[in-house]
Amino acid sequence: MIKHSDKLENIGRPNDLVKAGLKKLHLDTVEDLLRYFPVRYLDIAGVQSIGNVSKGEKVTLFGKIESLETGKSFRSKITMAKGVLTDGHASLDLVWFNQPYIAKMIQDGSMVRVEGTITERNNKLYISNPAIESVAYAPFPSNSLFKNKVEPDSELGIYPVYPETRFISSRWIYHHLQKIFTSGALDDIFDPIPEEILKKYHLPSLKTAYVWIHTPKNKNDAEAARKRFAFEEVFFIQLARQKERMELRHLPAAAIKNTKKDIDSFLSRLPFTLTNGQQKAIDDILSDIEKGAPMSRLLEGDVGSGKTAVAAATAFAVTNNRPYTGKKGDEFGNFQIAIMAPTEILAAQHFESFISLFKHLPVSIALMTGSGCRKFPSKVNPNGSTPISRPQLLKWVKNGEISIVVGTHALIAKSVEFKNLAYVVIDEQHRFGVAQRKALVRKHTLIPHLLSMTATPIPRTLALTIYGDLDLSVLDEMPAGRKKVITDIVLPSGRKDVYEKMREELKSGRQAYVICPRINEPDPDKEVKLNVKSVKEEAKRLKEKVFPEYQIEIIHSKQSSKEKDRVMKDFSEGKIDILVSTSVVEVGVNVPNATVILIEGAERFGLSQLHQLRGRVIRSNHQAYCFVFADAKSDTTIERLRAFKTAKNGFELAELDLKLRGAGELSGDKQWGISDLAMEALKNLKMVEAAREEAKRIIEKDPELKNNPIFLKEITKNSYHFE
Ligand code: ADP
Ligand code: MG
Repeated sequence: MIKHSDKLENIGRPNDLVKAGLKKLHLDTVEDLLRYFPVRYLDIAGVQSIGNVSKGEKVTLFGKIESLETGKSFRSKITMAKGVLTDGHASLDLVWFNQPYIAKMIQDGSMVRVEGTITERNNKLYISNPAIESVAYAPFPSNSLFKNKVEPDSELGIYPVYPETRFISSRWIYHHLQKIFTSGALDDIFDPIPEEILKKYHLPSLKTAYVWIHTPKNKNDAEAARKRFAFEEVFFIQLARQKERMELRHLPAAAIKNTKKDIDSFLSRLPFTLTNGQQKAIDDILSDIEKGAPMSRLLEGDVGSGKTAVAAATAFAVTNNRPYTGKKGDEFGNFQIAIMAPTEILAAQHFESFISLFKHLPVSIALMTGSGCRKFPSKVNPNGSTPISRPQLLKWVKNGEISIVVGTHALIAKSVEFKNLAYVVIDEQHRFGVAQRKALVRKHTLIPHLLSMTATPIPRTLALTIYGDLDLSVLDEMPAGRKKVITDIVLPSGRKDVYEKMREELKSGRQAYVICPRINEPDPDKEVKLNVKSVKEEAKRLKEKVFPEYQIEIIHSKQSSKEKDRVMKDFSEGKIDILVSTSVVEVGVNVPNATVILIEGAERFGLSQLHQLRGRVIRSNHQAYCFVFADAKSDTTIERLRAFKTAKNGFELAELDLKLRGAGELSGDKQWGISDLAMEALKNLKMVEAAREEAKRIIEKDPELKNNPIFLKEITKNSYHFE
């Protein structure tokens, strides 16, 4: 009898190659294999039998491949692979020209699926250069192989396709699953989702779901099974999130009173009036932080929507209060605020913004990054900041003298201690793990309020899931007077015109970004072949051939922070006209005078990422332009770029990214820590909301899951904490 927890390598006698393959796929136990889900299903309606094909027909056939061999064709001497496809009743020749790897890829005697057009020569039918893939099993019972026309068996209307690796074929997976199914391993399997919930949402039990996902009778069964596993994953993520949320809510936080005091005069110093969204977000935050329970709020706002002003105004409300612990001497301390940014460039930029917003107030501000520390106000430099040593800064942070500390990851180092940390603002939170957030929060007896800001538009369902422990404020409008960036998808023939348009802008004193997908490509042949522009080469080319009259510099992640800072500073001071960059400028950098962004190799960036990049030129009231060059051969690329041109905002693009590319690729990588299956499920808002409601209901009744040890085990075991 096979058990759930048995090691796969103890089933059958896998050789070392198979063992290595299993390891590569992270398949260790029987349960791992059960949870190794098909990536897709093939519909076998329309599959023909080999004996029934005729010349000129486009066909899909299943069968066994035999007599597979590679050789040279008699006359032309080109490599040729050939084989015979048989279903026990009829057979058909297959030939491949110039594809010697076919014989290596497919093993003689394996079950395959073949697609191609029937050709005839010397009265004999064959297929030339068919597409071929090895399959788990022939999708019809063997007796029907002898029928003239294959009736797809009602038992097996569709069949699964697994991601394969060498030595672990779909067939291997299928056979082992069969063994597991027939061994009774599923009989006493424990379902962590209570029956009542399964019933309520019409979801199959775990046992049924395993059978349906691997050997579905029809599409509906497969769908139902996938839905169940997706629900399960989202449900446990929600449960973990709701539990965290509940835990946090019972911890003490600074109650920030009088939040409205003087805030109007602070706001009146801003060179603009707030948008409704900004006002609403500020109100949300101020009413949260009054309560004495830690705020956890996510501020989502498109690039350029003005999140910094929200952070600054609420930080002001905090500095405007005094901690009073009742202890003598404490009434003179300050509440402290930490502002964390994902890059040194951004931290420095926030530091400067905060100085300009607070310089009329008796508030000290410091910058802390890996490459140095600064402090404002400074005795030596009355209008600006001075560098100070890290130990000195640490001392002042610890004794509470510094009110606002702006920094990078350096802020969460163990050595950094605050006296009265009351408020933490994290810019671009998705770049920080939850663990880092906690490291900062948990060190203090009073839990600081947390504002997480992100410009990464994420679909609502994804936000509800991964940020399920946070409340949400959204800046859904742009400051008045902003012009929409004019976006153009440019054909290679239009390159010259684009450069002329760029020159026009530069002539009138504006600046430009040129974005390339790579930093460096030392091999020029490869660069041409891959057709990917690199920052270094492109900067050189622009300098020599296109814009010799302008100042061009580069920025990318391999430069030292010091160098990056210098370049960014020179760019924001207008000393550089054209900045050639990788996507490092993607996040938050603010140079209002830059009005042109030219993106090379756009097919290599996700839609959300492109949108972020475009956000670099949305920062001013000048008309801005975004020119996009792409190697747009596939329909999806074309559709994506079209959407990029027309979409109203980042959220619309994020939803589209989810639809077109699958959420795993949402930002170009798998950063959310959610399986592909659950990501697929995030297209379904109802399901996500249902999972969330159930999780909430359970946590409200049983905050620590004392009465639900199974749930507790499940969320602990699977570390749905993304840490
Ligand atoms: P993001 O949300 O991308 O962080 P920022 O806070 O950097 O955006 O703001 C972008 C630019 O818009 C800044 O130059 C800022 O001064 C300006 N800004 C912010 N709010 C407003 C507003 N309500 N009206 C006009 N300009 C604004
Ligand atoms: Mg910002």
